[in-house]
Amino acid sequence: MNTIEIKPRGYCHGVVNALVIVKKVLKDPSYPRPIYILGQIVHNRQITDFFSTHGVISLDQEGMSRLDMLETINDGTVIFTAHGISDKVIERAKEKGLTYLNATCKDVLKVHVAVKDKLNEGYKVIYIGHRNHPEPEAVLDISDDIYFVENEQDVLLLPNNLNQEKIFVTNQTTLSMYDINNVLKMIELKYPNYIFDNEICKATTMRQDAVMDQDLVDLMLVVGDKKSSNSNKLVEVGLKTKAKVSFLIQNVNDIDLQWLNNANQVSVTSGASTPSTVTKEVIAFLKQYKKDDPSTWDHQSKIDDKDIL
Ligand code: SF4
Repeated sequence: MNTIEIKPRGYCHGVVNALVIVKKVLKDPSYPRPIYILGQIVHNRQITDFFSTHGVISLDQEGMSRLDMLETINDGTVIFTAHGISDKVIERAKEKGLTYLNATCKDVLKVHVAVKDKLNEGYKVIYIGHRNHPEPEAVLDISDDIYFVENEQDVLLLPNNLNQEKIFVTNQTTLSMYDINNVLKMIELKYPNYIFDNEICKATTMRQDAVMDQDLVDLMLVVGDKKSSNSNKLVEVGLKTKAKVSFLIQNVNDIDLQWLNNANQVSVTSGASTPSTVTKEVIAFLKQYKKDDPSTWDHQSKIDDKDIL
């Protein structure tokens, strides 16, 4: 079995920046305790668990907005995640007298600026993203003149009279053009005079391009968290292009040995929030694996969550 390491893969600059911020606060006792994160600092459970063992409280309850989460905090330091935060939440943190740090990725911030600029120019904004993801939540908080869509059906439900408006379309940073193109076709039918600004970030694009540029493989494994949008996209892009089969795995434990039975070419990539130690363990397992040798089949992860970073 040939194991192919897809590159680039793994951490992007936005994730590195967010992790540096949390580590800085942990090391510096002048930041008031407790330390809270509004959501998961990046979408990776192992990283969240690592910080949790060091006393960092990640507030991540489904159905709760960032503002709702903030209301539960009365003291300490609050860190806003790489996915972005709205001005409303920042203002509320100030009102509450909390110490806060903003780990928003600069590529996400760029989308906020573009949306605000276009609103100021009198445009209505259509934003393409994933439901229940924190990145759209922060963007939608900017104004009521932003319309959220995830798919073509959502576009059909938008008000018809928007076609009398100037329309600006943009998107979540971690989508793929496969998601966007179908939605754009529908927008074009309904509002032919729209303008579009593609905001898929460079890190996401480069990782997806690497998947598209590989030779055809029997199996592609993407190491990443189920909640990680960019990791899920890598699976989808692989299936649409060069991978006969592809699975998202959180770590080496998730490999099903049956997947390897008839796979001669197996490639591995990872999402932008996946620690490299986790991906390297997957690659090391695959490289030594032999179908006929049970001594090579053990795929229990040896990485302790406390050593993940
Ligand atoms: S995936 Fe892109 S937008 Fe998200 S944190 Fe990384 S660089 Fe920033």
